[in-house]
Amino acid sequence: MRPHSLTFPQSDDFILANARVPLCLTSTRGLPPAGEGLSACDLLVRGGRIVAVAAPRATGANAAVIDCDQGIVLPRLVDLHTHLDKGHIWPRRPNPDGTHAGARVSVMEDRAANWNADDVRARMDFALRCAYAHGTSAVRTHIDSLGKQAAISWPVFNEIREAWKGRIDLQAVALFPIDYAIDDEPAFRQLVALVARYGGILGGMTYLGAVDERCHRALGRVFEAAAANGLDLDFHVDETDDSEARTLSAIANTVQAMGFAGRVLAGHCCSLALASDAEREDTINRVADAGVSVVSLPICNMYLMGRKANRTPLWRGVTVLHELAAAGVVVSAASDNTRDPFYAYGDLDLLEVYRESVRILQLDHTGPDWLRLVSSSPAQVMGLQSHGRIDVGLPADLIILRARSFNEMNSRPQNDRAVLVKGRPIDTTPPDYRELDPWVGAP
Ligand SMILES: [Zn+2]
Repeated sequence: MRPHSLTFPQSDDFILANARVPLCLTSTRGLPPAGEGLSACDLLVRGGRIVAVAAPRATGANAAVIDCDQGIVLPRLVDLHTHLDKGHIWPRRPNPDGTHAGARVSVMEDRAANWNADDVRARMDFALRCAYAHGTSAVRTHIDSLGKQAAISWPVFNEIREAWKGRIDLQAVALFPIDYAIDDEPAFRQLVALVARYGGILGGMTYLGAVDERCHRALGRVFEAAAANGLDLDFHVDETDDSEARTLSAIANTVQAMGFAGRVLAGHCCSLALASDAEREDTINRVADAGVSVVSLPICNMYLMGRKANRTPLWRGVTVLHELAAAGVVVSAASDNTRDPFYAYGDLDLLEVYRESVRILQLDHTGPDWLRLVSSSPAQVMGLQSHGRIDVGLPADLIILRARSFNEMNSRPQNDRAVLVKGRPIDTTPPDYRELDPWVGAP
């Protein structure tokens, strides 16, 4: 792939001229429209920050000019739901049949056999180097936190979060089946203390079948623990084609009943797409009223959901993002798994996630604001004010494309993108898989 031909000056004072910026990602108004919700503008970058967003040739600054040649400029993007601790184990532990059940068993076996601190660290760091090269500024990861694994993975995460400061902002969520909260209370209390100590987020995987009394009790415990420790919540919700799975409603009801003050995010919510119209509408209204945000994992769920041997899948596995967004729910899209039994492929490239989301969810023909799914909306959910937007005063954390339109952007992988971090171009070459051979084996 031909690399982006932009040449950057040595000084960190320059104008990105003749750029196209999505209107939905900037608060600057009055820029000349350039079609499709894009606006034509020049960005003045000084000392690593954006100091002006102006109409072409209107910054009034005397600085080196870099001509973007009508290319789209995006903020670095934000990945709201990943599994860095599972990433890249595929060569040593593939999914036997491509199903969700197959993935759960495979990961459990691999975790027990291989997930020491060095192994987890090597794979997490590799995954982050992929994300960084593609232009990601913040990542939230779930961390398998059952039994002894919590005490291995959380300190490694903490170390990695420190090491990546200034390049990628990191957040972590404890992942466990929510039964843990009622089946092993002492262990659960210990886990909550550990999560609080590392500034993490509480979560868990909810039931994949009908909501019963046990489910309500377990959810209640998790909410109580979060409230008592001032923690936010981020659940794996209804990731199943069982249309009886309705924990999303239960989560929204619990938020309301408790008056829970923290942020609550629900991931996946696949089975909502299979509900009756009336039930779907009722759930969406509850979610909107409770202020629960939703993240869809389109690529991963299209891989996992509806899979039966020798049968063509009949649905796309994704939740009802259009309807949730229309009801005012803050919605995002994210990577989820990469090269592990839950998803065999992927590289933590949010432009790929966005491009595939457009296809899977038919986001085209319904307005240009969907780019928020991988930028300002996940930044809002993560509480990161300076991420996912292009505005005066924000760091010049930018992705510069040759593509001039969304059609050009979504038609190619954009491997020739340039990425700026605090106004400086970075190497956009992802790491070599061979580096992981000592950990996961060569193919
Ligand atoms: Zn997940």
